[in-house]
Amino acid sequence: MVAESFVIRNGTIADGIKDTPFVADVLVEDGCITKVGPNIRSNAKPIDAEGLLVTPGWIDIHTHYDGQLTWDPFLRPSCWHGVTTAITGNCGVGFAPVRPDGQKLLVEMMESTEDIPAKCLEEAIAWDWESFPEYMSSISEGNYAMDIGVQVPHAALRFYVMGERGARNEPARPEESAEMARLVAEGIRNGALGFSFSRTKAHTYLDGWQPGTLSGIEELKPIATAIAQEGGAPIMFSPRGVTGLYPEERDEEVRLAAELSRISHGPVMMCLIQHSHEPDEWKKILNEFEAASSTGAEVYAQVTGRSIVTLGGFSTKFNPFMHGKDWPSLAALPNKEIAQKVSSDKDLRNRLIRDAESTRHIWQSRKFFEEKTYPLIPLGETSPQYEPSESVAAIAERTRKAPIEIMLEVLCSHNGSGLLNYPHYNYADRNLNAVFEMLQHPNSRLGLSDAGAHLETLADASLFTFMMTHWSRDRENGIPLSSVVKMMTSEPAEIFGLNDRGRIAPGYRADINVIDYSNLEVGIPWLEHDVPGGGSRLLQKPEGYIHTFVSGVETFSEGKATGDLPGRLIRRESNL
Ligand SMILES: [Zn+2]
Repeated sequence: MVAESFVIRNGTIADGIKDTPFVADVLVEDGCITKVGPNIRSNAKPIDAEGLLVTPGWIDIHTHYDGQLTWDPFLRPSCWHGVTTAITGNCGVGFAPVRPDGQKLLVEMMESTEDIPAKCLEEAIAWDWESFPEYMSSISEGNYAMDIGVQVPHAALRFYVMGERGARNEPARPEESAEMARLVAEGIRNGALGFSFSRTKAHTYLDGWQPGTLSGIEELKPIATAIAQEGGAPIMFSPRGVTGLYPEERDEEVRLAAELSRISHGPVMMCLIQHSHEPDEWKKILNEFEAASSTGAEVYAQVTGRSIVTLGGFSTKFNPFMHGKDWPSLAALPNKEIAQKVSSDKDLRNRLIRDAESTRHIWQSRKFFEEKTYPLIPLGETSPQYEPSESVAAIAERTRKAPIEIMLEVLCSHNGSGLLNYPHYNYADRNLNAVFEMLQHPNSRLGLSDAGAHLETLADASLFTFMMTHWSRDRENGIPLSSVVKMMTSEPAEIFGLNDRGRIAPGYRADINVIDYSNLEVGIPWLEHDVPGGGSRLLQKPEGYIHTFVSGVETFSEGKATGDLPGRLIRRESNL
């Protein structure tokens, strides 16, 4: 694998910085962009990009690929969606530092908070490390389809330093906080990109909350101070009340973010979503962020580009028919056969509907899926609809059928691969207008794809393609292409101090997408049974990425892997 020289000719360049795309050539030599301009004279191999869009590779700052990178070096599906840098270790969870007797707990935690099967992780992870630097050197031996950055995760750190008391969320003693701070500094000195923690009580673990949920400024202050002494690095966290629960505990969170930023001399990102308990609260929080930044804190809401959903299908984790008496005999069949059986056997269909009507289990109940659910791909169409206007209930009313009948029709559609889309967050107004405003707020940054997590319930690694198709191309009230490209390239690069990427400009790394923009499609999610330990995951493959380069090496050509894996662990360069 040698980075060849090549020149991308006549593409329309959205360079990650300028407000208007422009037509030019891009010369790439030794893995770097060396020239951008019209009619570059060069004998290097030409790549014709006339009529195509040329962008920097996407940077996904919120993934949970910590486990997957040990068994899937391509990091599917992100590799298909133009992502050339993925950052793991988010939300406080990860696999280092760890003592041999603590591995099980970290695996269970990843299963309970991020929905990644413990069986898979047990089978895949080599555990040839204890400290965070050892973990980094272990993964630095791997070759990947994209670059990987890691953050020091607080929950693992807390358990490492405090043992059972840390796992039970007991307060840290001063010497324990100091030890955690020392280890975070050590991680950052060795190239960790940042530090993450979680205070949301939505992240439960065994009979309690994720380790670190109750940690406040006393415990985090020494860590932030240590980060400052290392020259500053970003901190990200999932705040208390992010999902709308515990409203009385939410007020502290922006103040905590601002204080940590002041102490650490770096940016602090806090996840922000719209929840239906208080659908306008996000506005208040963004105002607070704005006020905090006017006093010198560098604070951002980490937001996403669409609703956060549970997908329900014949083979996903949840669907409204899985408590019926007939389900066990259907569950193991391919989706296509389930759909055929349901459409040819009227009694079976009626029994499934009747049993679903009486299911009480909340996640699998008719009520859960009926109330706010939308078909992901409207009946009769072929592309996903992430801003749907017609719910299952509305279709039922229009067609004078029962909602549960519509749900069964949706699941049977597309040869049994139809999906119900239940938006938990960012859809309280039944549209994405709140997301539209969140995305464009100066104090927000795009993240939260959760790529690599919640394997059987969501498929949001496709967020990056969706940003292009929905927000910059298709939506009536959309966002300019150049702004969308910035959100996915130069902005995340800047926040993580990755000064070598995120722009199409001389001196930058040749992480490049060449895209057939007008024919770009997000693709339809499907369940693939390829997870170690016998598990499944939702994958989604787009159309329209013509070339993806990482460090000047082509990783994907028209959707096909070239087989080259130029991605490496990247290390933070000290500002000291
Ligand atoms: Zn997360």
